[in-house]
Amino acid sequence: MTDRAAVCSVCWRHCRIREGQLGWCGARTVRDGRVIPDNYGKLTSLALDPIEKKPLSFFHPGTMILSAGSYGCNMACPFCQNFEIAREKGAGRYSRMFSPDELVERALAYRSRGNIGIAFTYNEPLVGYEFIRDTARLARKENLEAVVVTNGQIEEEPLRELLPLISAWNIDLKAFTEEGYKRLGGRLQETLRTIRLTQEVSHVEVTTLVVPGLSDGEEDMKREAEFLASLDPALPLHLSRYFPCYQYDVPATPKETLFRLKEIAEESLERVVLGNI
Ligand code: SF4
Repeated sequence: MTDRAAVCSVCWRHCRIREGQLGWCGARTVRDGRVIPDNYGKLTSLALDPIEKKPLSFFHPGTMILSAGSYGCNMACPFCQNFEIAREKGAGRYSRMFSPDELVERALAYRSRGNIGIAFTYNEPLVGYEFIRDTARLARKENLEAVVVTNGQIEEEPLRELLPLISAWNIDLKAFTEEGYKRLGGRLQETLRTIRLTQEVSHVEVTTLVVPGLSDGEEDMKREAEFLASLDPALPLHLSRYFPCYQYDVPATPKETLFRLKEIAEESLERVVLGNI
């Protein structure tokens, strides 16, 4: 009997998936011996948002962007704000099927309301990178911008397919230690590589959610800012305030911590923005 399992190489997990089963992220499956995105075009959320909400503060400020989310994520943050769609296994929650053409058409229809393009966001979009690639190709022909909001956990090969198609990225840098990433089911080095490769060719802003006991260390912030500044001192860093959510219920980050970390980051970086404060 043939074992029709196949290995997914989109992120470091390299899941071995059996025919018809789902990978760890809940977004990819195997059909006829090939790994395919189970969540292709299956949107759970679609909204016209201010671009600052992504957050992107230095990319067409004052405009709107059509923001689309599907389901699945390859990390397991206990304070996830979108856990209903990020941790959903399979297609249970998607509300509508969109082809790349249909999504581009919708984005064009919103131009009169200030829309500049399409943002792939809400769940972890890169676990379904093929839908981003196909939609961004069409969007580009219509002079629409494509934006990705991601945890950066993607292998180099699929990332390189997207690089020429994406105008702007917001990348979460969730902690500056491998130990911190391990607690969240990710790998620091994979995100650092994504930041490095994307900022060579696109506009990139980085977000760190400052979580007590995970990403509020002053020494870690100093090293994080130095790393980002080594790529580009003008690279924007958003420091966002954590509030209790999902399975994590330590009290909200004190505002003073955010102010102190901003001062430290500003020793290396020119643009540090506080969020949720
Ligand atoms: S993208 Fe999903 S299926 Fe593929 S290796 Fe990562 S977790 Fe596994």
